[in-house]
Amino acid sequence: MVSSAVLGFPRIGAFRELKKNTEAYWSGKIDAEQLLKVGKDIREKNWKLQKEAGVDIIPSNDFSFYDQVLDLSILFNVIPDRYTKYELSSLDTFFAMARGLQRKATETTKAVDVPALEMVKWFDANYHYVRPTFSKSTNFKLNGQKPVDEYLEAKALGIETRPVLVGPVSYLYLGKADKDSLDLEPISLLEKLLPLYVDILKKLADAGAKVVQIDEPTLVLDLPENVKAAFQTAYSKLAAAEGLPELILTTYFGDVRPNLDAIKELPVSGFHFDFVRTPEQFDDVVSIIGEKTLSVGIVDGRNIWKNNFAESVDFVKKAIAKVGADKIIVATSSSLLHTPVDLTNEKKLDAEIKNWFSFATQKVDEVVTITKAIAGEDVSAKLEENAAAIKSRKESKITNNPEVRKRTSEAQADESMAKRHSDFPTRLVSQKAKYNLPLFPTTTIGSFPQTKEIRINRNKFSKGEISAEEYEKFINSEMETVVKFQEEIGLDVLVHGEPERNDMVQYFGEKLNGFAFTTNGWVQSYGSRYVRPPIIVGDVDRPAAMTVKESVYAQSLTKKPMKGMLTGPVTILRWSFPRDDVTQKVQSYQLSLALRDEVNDLEKAGITVIQVDEPAIREGLPLRAGSERSDYLQWAAESFRIATSGVEDSTQIHSHFCYSDLDPNHIKALDADVVSIEFSKKDDPNYIQEFSNYPNHIGLGLFDIHSPRIPSKEEFIARIGEILKVYPADKFWVNPDCGLKTRGWEETRASLTNMVDAAKYYRGKY
Ligand code: GLN
Ligand code: ZN
Repeated sequence: MVSSAVLGFPRIGAFRELKKNTEAYWSGKIDAEQLLKVGKDIREKNWKLQKEAGVDIIPSNDFSFYDQVLDLSILFNVIPDRYTKYELSSLDTFFAMARGLQRKATETTKAVDVPALEMVKWFDANYHYVRPTFSKSTNFKLNGQKPVDEYLEAKALGIETRPVLVGPVSYLYLGKADKDSLDLEPISLLEKLLPLYVDILKKLADAGAKVVQIDEPTLVLDLPENVKAAFQTAYSKLAAAEGLPELILTTYFGDVRPNLDAIKELPVSGFHFDFVRTPEQFDDVVSIIGEKTLSVGIVDGRNIWKNNFAESVDFVKKAIAKVGADKIIVATSSSLLHTPVDLTNEKKLDAEIKNWFSFATQKVDEVVTITKAIAGEDVSAKLEENAAAIKSRKESKITNNPEVRKRTSEAQADESMAKRHSDFPTRLVSQKAKYNLPLFPTTTIGSFPQTKEIRINRNKFSKGEISAEEYEKFINSEMETVVKFQEEIGLDVLVHGEPERNDMVQYFGEKLNGFAFTTNGWVQSYGSRYVRPPIIVGDVDRPAAMTVKESVYAQSLTKKPMKGMLTGPVTILRWSFPRDDVTQKVQSYQLSLALRDEVNDLEKAGITVIQVDEPAIREGLPLRAGSERSDYLQWAAESFRIATSGVEDSTQIHSHFCYSDLDPNHIKALDADVVSIEFSKKDDPNYIQEFSNYPNHIGLGLFDIHSPRIPSKEEFIARIGEILKVYPADKFWVNPDCGLKTRGWEETRASLTNMVDAAKYYRGKY
């Protein structure tokens, strides 16, 4: 009998309960017990929902208060000493590792001042995990038993679950060495770590778990030989241990074929593959199944489009023909963490378009329906409804605008569209003459604190409770505050602060044709930060200017240059749910043309420093080397250049990147005049070195904007000093890691003041 499985369900709650309560806990409004209860309620709801839908294999331990990888670091006691010395509760240690903690001493507690661990992209998703950080002094031992507790919690509700764990090879490989142990290669810790996996798996088995979903997503990466070999070591050891549950080795987000040798003989009871992303791997991966179970990832865990039942049923039947029905599991392609919770909560979507979508709750049903169809149950009504929705999308006017298609292919053919008039050295001369900036020019990345007041006003405006004039007046007054503040502390290139923007992608999506929006379609980006990605439903174009009014007003308030602020084509694409009926490349070119019109309009209106953010450019990089990756690099860079190359030499194009280890060569291809990159938590000296030859100007981010912690002036001076050892002073901009929207005013004011003072200190020295 074919069974159905879900690999993970969103843990944020249908109405962002987790965020609201986590933040309430951080600000002291609720206590730990109350927060733990919220987690428990969410888990219960999720399990029951899946149970009632008829899912056979329901996940547990897919819940986390921040990040599932950080959960494992806590479980295995991979906790750097700097977090343990304060004797915080385990929940607070967890949050301190996630987001840093700075707290004044009280009568009963010591002062705390510790930065967060590094946070990085989860493969090519817009999710971020907290990087396991290993040291020679890491004292591996089990710290609690979260996976067991949650398994038992479900069991107590009468629900049998399949616990999820990130596997040992991926856990190590996704980590890094701590500052004090830079020559430590995490994978070398495998022997030390494995006994803990044995322990926790044994505990799960003792609690009653028959099967565990063990995630090894690194199998879709290009792996070094020693990491490939680690799979054999790890899984033989686990197989040799007595009394462990069965393991389903789970991969997702890509192609496993290049690593097939590393896993084909593994003594596990089954494999899961992502056939949504890479259906082409079918024949090869099936060849290693033998007597094992094959979990067929067929319902997309990364996008919101309705599954095509007819195609999925055929696909699963193909698998059955190869391995037999009793070995087949019909599953989501990955965890559903990356999809919004429930489409039925969307009341404002156009009915036709809404009928093309499926969110996590609906995907659970899809898995069940496909399984039933295979089993021969009568689901004909559902199949027909599904076929009608697929047809409606294919034939809709929204998905095919001949004018946009024409402009896009013309632009692709015209090389001059993607090239500035002159090379960087020539542009630099005009820009120097025009702006006359000091050495170590200071700037910020765009947003300033999005205060409660801003959110309230935006809300009121969208509900029609205040008029457009009132809202504009409010936004203007916010810009006035931000500009005044920046002048006061002496920043050189100012920003308007982005008070009018709910989100750097949504804001643009709302002004472009071809997008749809949800009211509640949140997905977790990191910790308590969720995003509500727009959905690219059709061909994209720009009906009118999007940012000119605000930038022009902000410029009118100051003599200093005001930086226009746009989100780049690749980032808009990556942080939206893209179409799956048109290539990403075409979607990116459509966006780049819309942005080109905006850049040109800004320049015409006198805004001649323009930042086009591409923080997502790195995450879009195909996970493996090869032609897909080189194609991507080509079209991603070209899209950026199409957007930014319609301007004069003296117009200074900035760009910004964050959340990832960047390759300077990829950034070079954009030919921006100035780039700013996240940098404050990069301890690896090679990383600084790699950027020292970057030809254009660059701002290496000097403080972590994810943390409320305030670095002192001395800390900035020390950090800049470090960088200046390898980095040329005349190319060096001074800025934070990223925008400040998630910060409060108090820490923003203090941090930026210290940062500017440090820049002034170095101006005095050079
Ligand atoms: N300009 C944006 C901001 O400051 C950039 C955000 C980002 O890179 N994530 O908010
Ligand atoms: Zn950023």
